[in-house]
Amino acid sequence: MKKAAVAFALGLSLVLGVLLYRTARFTSRQVAAPPAPPLTLDTAAAAERLAGAIRFHTISYQDSGLVDGAEFARFHEYLRTRFPKLHARLKREVTNGFSLLYEWLGTDTTLKPILLLAHQDVVPVETGTESRWTEPPFAGHIAGGYVWGRGAMDDKGNLMAVLEAVERLVADGVTPKRTIYLAFGHDEEVGGTRGAARTAALLASRGVHLEYVLDEGGAITTGLVPGIAAPVALVGIAEKGYVSLELTVHAEGGHSSMPPRATAVGILSAAVVRLEAHQMPRRISGATVAMLDYIGPEMGFSSRLALANRWLFGGLIERRFGGTPSGNAMLRTTTAPTILAAGVKDNVLPSSARAVVNFRILPGDSVAGVVHHVRQAIDDPRVTTEVLGGFENEPSPVSPVSSESFGLLQRTMHQVVPGVVVTPWLVVGGTDSRHYDGLTGNVFRTGALRLGPTDLERIHGTNERVAISDYARNIAFYIQLIRNSAL
Ligand SMILES: [Zn+2]
Repeated sequence: MKKAAVAFALGLSLVLGVLLYRTARFTSRQVAAPPAPPLTLDTAAAAERLAGAIRFHTISYQDSGLVDGAEFARFHEYLRTRFPKLHARLKREVTNGFSLLYEWLGTDTTLKPILLLAHQDVVPVETGTESRWTEPPFAGHIAGGYVWGRGAMDDKGNLMAVLEAVERLVADGVTPKRTIYLAFGHDEEVGGTRGAARTAALLASRGVHLEYVLDEGGAITTGLVPGIAAPVALVGIAEKGYVSLELTVHAEGGHSSMPPRATAVGILSAAVVRLEAHQMPRRISGATVAMLDYIGPEMGFSSRLALANRWLFGGLIERRFGGTPSGNAMLRTTTAPTILAAGVKDNVLPSSARAVVNFRILPGDSVAGVVHHVRQAIDDPRVTTEVLGGFENEPSPVSPVSSESFGLLQRTMHQVVPGVVVTPWLVVGGTDSRHYDGLTGNVFRTGALRLGPTDLERIHGTNERVAISDYARNIAFYIQLIRNSAL
């Protein structure tokens, strides 16, 4: 008995020793960088130009026939007049009618170019919600220290900041060593196949290999990462894939006074319930591993101990982290039933019922894997499962945080936002950057706009806006990034 107690005590102290040792070695990955040199910007004039950009209804639609081409053309003309030095200096091309590609030729052609991405298009304002906007969505009003309107954050707040940065550097007489491309797609919100995909193909046909691509998809967050009070800069190093599956059930129709045991609606509903009950497996992998490595050391002792010892606490971390919809989305391929349709009259049995389920695919999983999982989980030959064609895409590769480009991005963030915690993360939505995967292994998604707890619902929602101070910082971020990357 006594022997057992001694062995237990020894074992316990050994485990404790390992836990504490690993915690002590789990140190900060943040870097020291001198602050960016002071920059005098005419912030008010820049905010005015952003407000002007918001006034263009550059709305993208799945049905390209609905797109107002003249509005895009007017927007292009607006950019030309507001950034005259850039337009005089950079080569400009239009791909597929509306997407823009600028090339700022570097002096050293042995260096791989970099590419800064943004998109011109915005989502429409949901009918019936217009009156809920404090300022009208397309008026481009400036009020209370904010530029208001659709696209203020997504994504004209990035597009215009990139242009402001380059205009400024050209005005300062700067010539980059490394060639810099700017590419602004016109249909990101509906998949980017008409814009970004075509621009990427054009660059590929010219044999362009890029050092890195930077797109939207990350921001400076405050209060969104529990346990860290400092602002956190999210740098997307991967993004999830996408597929929607259509489930269909055909059954005997007829009068509802004598229904059969199994109806189309019942069979389909059971299938949807089974899918929600049998989720794709949860795992900490890829970009999320990198994120825990970067944010863990910045947290309090108990979180640090747990995150440093995933060999022991992995399950607990998965449960805690996966307990919220946003955490869950980073740990697995998500299952979201989005459309359910059947029936036309209350006393008629529908002869068919249809559901659409949307999946966001975790890197490591695949479209084929999702289809296989769904068929297995439903396990009912009466339910046919088909990929809703045209929109599916595989998850992106994971860009290495060990790359020079990631280090450079991180350093730039620290220079422009002193005290920030920079972390890699997994973008759970989609961006245009995925079309550029073939041109470089270093695809990153971030920017220096700030995303507070109430801002997430503004993007694609009501009262989208950007603080002028944040917008000015975003311009400073692109200026410093170009200086660090290419001068
Ligand atoms: Zn966007």
